[in-house]
Amino acid sequence: EREDEDSEESPRKKRRSGDVAVVVEHYNARPDVGVAQRQESPIIGLKSFNNWVKSVLITRFAHPVLAASPGQWRGRMRGRVLDMGCGKGGDLTKWAKANVAEYIGLDIAAVSVDQARQRHGGSRGARFTAEFFALDCYTTVLSDALPPNLLSTPFDVVSMQFCMHYAFESEAKARIMLRNVATWLRPSGMFIGTIPNAQQLMEHLDELPEDAKDLSWGNSVYKIRFEDRHQRPIFGHRYWFYLQDAVDDVPEYVVHWDNFVRLASEYGLQLVYKKEFHEIYEEHSEHPDFAPLLQRMRVVDANGESQMDEDQWEAANVYIGFAFE
Ligand code: SAM
Repeated sequence: EREDEDSEESPRKKRRSGDVAVVVEHYNARPDVGVAQRQESPIIGLKSFNNWVKSVLITRFAHPVLAASPGQWRGRMRGRVLDMGCGKGGDLTKWAKANVAEYIGLDIAAVSVDQARQRHGGSRGARFTAEFFALDCYTTVLSDALPPNLLSTPFDVVSMQFCMHYAFESEAKARIMLRNVATWLRPSGMFIGTIPNAQQLMEHLDELPEDAKDLSWGNSVYKIRFEDRHQRPIFGHRYWFYLQDAVDDVPEYVVHWDNFVRLASEYGLQLVYKKEFHEIYEEHSEHPDFAPLLQRMRVVDANGESQMDEDQWEAANVYIGFAFE
């Protein structure tokens, strides 16, 4: 029903329709503001916290062999990573710190991909090779789009940060996404990601008054709006998401967790870790590897005070982090 929204005059070479066009246009239009201006964001505390969570996931799960004991998580990765939905390359520094050897970044938003490529090229002493491609990872099988030499050695890690939920528009898209994740991942390789917490979304929806016309909730930082209270399809369960200074009312899809885990298992992926963001914080905030990082990444200030207000903390906890093997 959303097929015809793309205008005839669309200047884009490859015209996309419906929700995908909204998503692509949104991310392409968001400026890459650079490090200094990024610090001025009204939700810098939340952005820093999200970055810290991703650092934890990368450091903890992205290496050839799982660390035997805490404190041995750093600097052990000399592998290959596939970053699907890499955006503007916001995780490049994290991968450098994780000591990755080779990085492939893919995203549907071509402008973001260019910015990611520039960011890698511009970073002094980039210690790993990186290649970037603009492509729809949920409709394109990677072997049809990437140079074969990039897929001849399997990946040690596939990372999908704050982007996998867009694949759950349909079963076909979710399956192509999982096929792309699993086919090129080596045995025991890790698939890590961050997505909104479906259970929490459904609980919020249930808590709305029975006669509510407006099926939305949120605060000064984020807003989530559903269109229907009762129809809860396992694919294509759409809602609209707003996040201050980041996402302007973009269509997203609920990742119903059990459905996702079941589907992932069909592609040989076994769940090893799933936590809400506040649990990831509680689990790692006093760990010797990750506590100093809280300050370095400006999640807390020099006095250990959180840079997030309550509204930002609530928005952060819309999400969960996961790892599959
Ligand atoms: N992973 C990056 C990060 O953590 O900073 C970017 C996250 S951003 C919230 C979501 C990204 O998903 C956007 O860059 C968007 O273009 C990308 N995306 C959405 N649908 C996609 C698709 N079908 N194929 C590839 N990337 C997609």
